[in-house]
Amino acid sequence: MGQSLAAIVANLIGGLIFFRVDQFIFTSRSLAAQWEVKENISCVDCGKVARGYRLVRSGDYDKSNDAAPGFRCEECSKKKTETLRGKGIKVE
Ligand SMILES: [Zn+2]
Repeated sequence: MGQSLAAIVANLIGGLIFFRVDQFIFTSRSLAAQWEVKENISCVDCGKVARGYRLVRSGDYDKSNDAAPGFRCEECSKKKTETLRGKGIKVE
């Protein structure tokens, strides 16, 4: 009896730890940059039709309500990322 009680308590503690870890992961994910990826877009910078990326949200930078979102090809999105990083916006 004592042993199974110990097992139950151990399970509860283990569950609590995992719960906290999950919450932490969830929290840090919601703070991380959100990217949208779309196939066959024409890049707003160079006009190339390719897989496009756009930064939707990152901290104070929020384009989630953008009516006409601009996608960039991988190359241009890297350049844009550098620009944003230079402005102090977290992009990763
Ligand atoms: Zn481009």
